Amino acid sequence: MTICVTVWNENRHEKTNPEVRKIYPNGIHGAIADFLKDAGMDVNTATLDEPEHGLTDEILNKTDVLVWWGHIAHREVSDGIVDKVYHRVLDGMGLIVLHSGHFSKIFRRLMGTTCNLRWREIGEKERLWVIEPSHPIAEGIGNYIELPNTEMYGERFDIPAPETLVFVSWFAGGEVCRSGCCYTRGKGKIFYFRPGHETFPIFYNKEIQRVITNAAHWAAPVEGPLPRFGHIPKPLEDVS
Ligand code: ZN
Repeated sequence: MTICVTVWNENRHEKTNPEVRKIYPNGIHGAIADFLKDAGMDVNTATLDEPEHGLTDEILNKTDVLVWWGHIAHREVSDGIVDKVYHRVLDGMGLIVLHSGHFSKIFRRLMGTTCNLRWREIGEKERLWVIEPSHPIAEGIGNYIELPNTEMYGERFDIPAPETLVFVSWFAGGEVCRSGCCYTRGKGKIFYFRPGHETFPIFYNKEIQRVITNAAHWAAPVEGPLPRFGHIPKPLEDVS
């Protein structure tokens, strides 16, 4: 089955910062959509300034996996749309939250914590160590991914303990960060992936692309049983 992915981007840096526009002429969403399409997925993009942020009921209902990148305009995302995305995740839609999306309304709501962290932007080296080599998100990746220039995010990263921690990052400046974190909420699977600052060409890195592609496969809904809740008056077994 073809996975239907919607790549959501706030798309503000690209409009206002020529440096970012030079790296991502079609927007961060465009760069991400390109490699997911190459991987055989059915990909839409959606951005903050579109009506309903591009996340209409029709789009959300057909989306298997939503990819989220935001940074400077988290507060402009409507609470009503966040509510819809939240319920779609509980109902089984996968969510991949990238980089500064850690502070998005949707990620903070799903995590229930501040999602705050330490940061520094001096273009230092990052090495993301794979610590769960048999996890599907790590398929095709070596022992580590090295990014020569990146923004540092460091612990403490105020998230709940991940159900599976796939990557831990080391930074040249000395910090570490849980940088590839898996969660489930309801029937939905969530992956937080740390790299992706707008002034570095991170989303052209083949290994980063592989991780996000793997994550989309992992987070896609499965045809599991429909949970049944509430009062069950008749027992399955004869208990009289
Ligand atoms: Zn950043």
